[in-house]
Amino acid sequence: MQAVEIIDKKRRGEELSPEEIEHMVLGFTRGGVPDYQMAAWLMAVVCRGMSRQETIDLTMTMAHSGAVLDLSDVAPVVVDKHSTGGVGDKTTLVVAPLVACLGLYVGKMSGRGLGFSGGTLDKLESIPGFSIDWTRDEFRHLLKQHGLVLAGQSADLAPADGKMYALRDVTATVESLPLIASSIMSKKIAAGATAIVLDVKTGRGAFMKTEAQAVALAETMVQIGTGVGRRMSAVIADMEQPLGLAVGNALEVAEAIATLRGDGPRDLTEHCLVVGAEMLLLGGRCATDDDAIVMLREAISSGRALAKFREWVRAQGGDHKVVDDPTRLPRASIVLPVKAPRSGYVAGINAMHIGLAAVTLGAGRQKKGDPIDHAVGVELQRKVGDQVSQGETLLVIHANQEQLVAEAMPKLLSAYAWSDMPVEPTPLIRRIIR
Ligand code: URA
Repeated sequence: MQAVEIIDKKRRGEELSPEEIEHMVLGFTRGGVPDYQMAAWLMAVVCRGMSRQETIDLTMTMAHSGAVLDLSDVAPVVVDKHSTGGVGDKTTLVVAPLVACLGLYVGKMSGRGLGFSGGTLDKLESIPGFSIDWTRDEFRHLLKQHGLVLAGQSADLAPADGKMYALRDVTATVESLPLIASSIMSKKIAAGATAIVLDVKTGRGAFMKTEAQAVALAETMVQIGTGVGRRMSAVIADMEQPLGLAVGNALEVAEAIATLRGDGPRDLTEHCLVVGAEMLLLGGRCATDDDAIVMLREAISSGRALAKFREWVRAQGGDHKVVDDPTRLPRASIVLPVKAPRSGYVAGINAMHIGLAAVTLGAGRQKKGDPIDHAVGVELQRKVGDQVSQGETLLVIHANQEQLVAEAMPKLLSAYAWSDMPVEPTPLIRRIIR
């Protein structure tokens, strides 16, 4: 079997056999298929798509490209949540300690930034000392001790996804239903969670631009998960504008801490309560949404959620003092307010443009393996629906290089749409698939 023939077959839109998928994926993971052939194959998949069966075969090949954890001796139910990627999406940083402090075991494997969308690992690594490299035994130990662990893709868990993800990030091969579904579900299956809440984004800052695409992705993933015995649910959530106000790694950590303290932006708080409630329901900690919301609010107001975040950061080697003193997080040398160019109502903030501007500032990667600058990003001061007067601060840029500010500025300003009439933002939660 030759990689070039398999690439050609997919380029012609034909269905691949499980053996052909395995040849590409395991060959690439073990080094026999080079980057350039894998990139060509990924692009063929983006353009031609995959059948449901191919998507399942791809997922299972990726999941079994390394070890598959069995955590049943640690806890009967281990819950995970995963976002399909967005801009300003720091939900994991909030909900993981929030539900863990209520007795749920949360064992999670996360990814890095992908294209214009941020990644949980990059965000957490902006906390000095925070480590995401854990062996299987360490992962189990942290989960048992603290009820919460978050790791990156280690060499032994879903290594195929780790390598493919890094290549997709820089070859414009992210936006594909089968590639996203298999990437997410292979990690979830390998990491051993028994209950999984998917946070599927839709809108301009999501990989799935329309609600119909997001629902199709959610249904595919729910089907893959239930097919291998996992409890699944999916929240379809808006990503037209960034979630919350902060976009950029350390800025987002600071906003997550504020949210755990009860001082977060309204949309982010609402989103975290909905996702957290799904996790509690799937994990069997409560019977109704209303009970779940009461429990989550109490965990925030009592300080238990924040205490769990502090414990988690310490357990993973990070500087837990950032919780009480966010100035210990990396800080940019340039902090520049950007004024509103006109008066009116903010009618739209294109999340993808904001995400791309943050990448330009150095918050994400332009090429595989690029270092990122944890300190940089943007802080929105106004969101869709807000009334603004010309000259008021619209957003604040955090940067370390003047020249990058100049490059990012037009992208940021072009993200805004204006109206003379009041505007309603699109609903945050579109639907829940259980
Ligand atoms: N998140 C992932 O883990 N993988 C993708 O492909 C997209 C979002």
